[in-house]
Amino acid sequence: MHVVKNDIVEIIAGDEAGKTGKILAVLSKKDRLLVEGVNYINKHVRPSQKNPQGGRVQKEAPIAASSVLVVCTNKNCAKYNRGVRTRVKQEEGKSKVRVCYKCGHAITAETEV
Ligand SMILES: [Zn+2]
Repeated sequence: MHVVKNDIVEIIAGDEAGKTGKILAVLSKKDRLLVEGVNYINKHVRPSQKNPQGGRVQKEAPIAASSVLVVCTNKNCAKYNRGVRTRVKQEEGKSKVRVCYKCGHAITAETEV
């Protein structure tokens, strides 16, 4: 999988192409992702204790992992804030990092909560 939870990604295929959002969850078994604010569906729910009214809830639906690219966060990059291809770079004694294919900027998922 080329993306991880909390990555900011750009959608590059489908109805939602061009949108960006944060990955809320990776469903690795299915190669699918939940991306914040992308691919909303109206879900009909029965009344429950949590939601006594029932009715419709807007909820993100999973999209294919292959239709997103990680966004480059380097302001000097020609592809700043756009989806970029990444490659993996490993320096001696350091762990692997994903870097922007264009500018070499390391791409790390936000760790703050
Ligand atoms: Zn870049």
